[in-house]
Parts: sequence; C-alpha cells; structure tokens
Amino acid sequence: MFPNNLQLIFATNNQHKLKEIKLILNSEVTILSLKDIDCSEKLPETSSSLRGNALQKANYVFEKYGVNCFADDTGLEIDALSGRPGVYSARYAGLQASDSDNVAKVLNEMKGVENRTAIFKTVIALITDREQKTFEGMIEGEITNEPKGTSGFGYDPVFIPAGSTRTFAEMSEEEKNGMSHRARALEKLIVYLKEAYVIDKSN
Ligand code: IMP
Repeated sequence: MFPNNLQLIFATNNQHKLKEIKLILNSEVTILSLKDIDCSEKLPETSSSLRGNALQKANYVFEKYGVNCFADDTGLEIDALSGRPGVYSARYAGLQASDSDNVAKVLNEMKGVENRTAIFKTVIALITDREQKTFEGMIEGEITNEPKGTSGFGYDPVFIPAGSTRTFAEMSEEEKNGMSHRARALEKLIVYLKEAYVIDKSN
C-alpha cells in the first residue's frame, strides 16, 4: 500500500516512455509529467554512463523545481559493435538524429554480421527529499536484419527479445511491458517504494 499522496514526476520529454510507464504503474503511484510542472527545457544528459545520465536528469528537475521525481536512461548494447551504441543510443547517427536514422546506422554497421546478440539496459534514478537511488533493468535479445513492426519507438523495430520471434515493435504495449528493460527497472522501483514509503504495512 502506498500513501495516497505519493506523487512522482517522471522527468522525461519522451511521450512514448511516459505512456509506457503510466501503463505499467497503473495508478499505483500518481505520475506527473514535466508538462504538469511547466518544465519544457531539454534535460542535461552529458554523462558517459546510463546511471550518470539518469541521475543528471532527475537531479536537474529536483533541484530546479523542488519536486520528488525519477528519470530513466536507456541504451542498446550490441556485442558485435563492442557495446555500441550504448550510452550514445539517442544520438548515434548524430545530434539531430531521428529514430529511423539511428536504426539505419545500426543496421548498416550490422550488415553481414553473424553474431547479432544485444542487450537493452535501463537505469532509473529516483531523487526525493529523502534520498537518491538507482534501479537497473535489462533484457537480452538479437538485432534483426531489417526493421519490423510499427509499435513502440526507438530501436524497437530491430530488437527481438530472447525467447520471442517478434520485435518489440511487433508486440502490443502490454506484451512489451511484460518483459522490457524499462518495465524490469520499474518493478524494482515499485518494490522499493512499497517498502520505503509504506504507511501501514498491515493494510
Ligand atoms: P534515452 O534513454 O531517452 O536517452 O534513449 C536513448 C535511445 O534509446 C533513444 O534513441 C531512444 O529512442 C532509445 N530507446 C529508449 N528506450 C527504448 C525502448 O524501450 N525501445 C527502443 N528504443 C528505446
């Protein structure tokens, strides 16, 4: 049981992530967006690690707006590319790169490559007036030879999670959320919040 008044800002400008996280949390915690606090600026993410970037984004919002919040940072690590694009996943094909530019660059680099294994990783950073914590989620999979599917965002059309025959972009939101890197990190956040912010454990 959460206290009724537990509200967290999800510090992201990515509307796909906001929708995913609201669906997963399913009203267990009230999630507000940056729009709800009139924050429209781009959040800083200049660290060389996912954890560093997640903390940087959450810290920016906490310091500037004085609200309890969390942020996530995600990277796709491809074994045959020595872990690239990794922490540079968002700007892999350049600073102004679109999702399809990034996907095209990855597929181009993976042309003819046999070993297609990869891992999606998400780090969530929680910053409140009480503490600062991080939670990690990951899922293994493979990179396809061409984009498949139209749901989701980012690298979803080229990532097939282990045990599946379809890309994340060929799955429903619920199916992706049942196994994704972000959902796994979020599960850890929820378990932690239930422990740390509980009012009455007998409820
Ligand atoms: P960031 O966490 O917003 O910095 O995202 C890094 C990059 O990974 C961006 O290109 C996103 O589009 C991509 N990305 C983040 N989460 C996902 C996901 O769940 N599926 C596919 N791509 C993602």
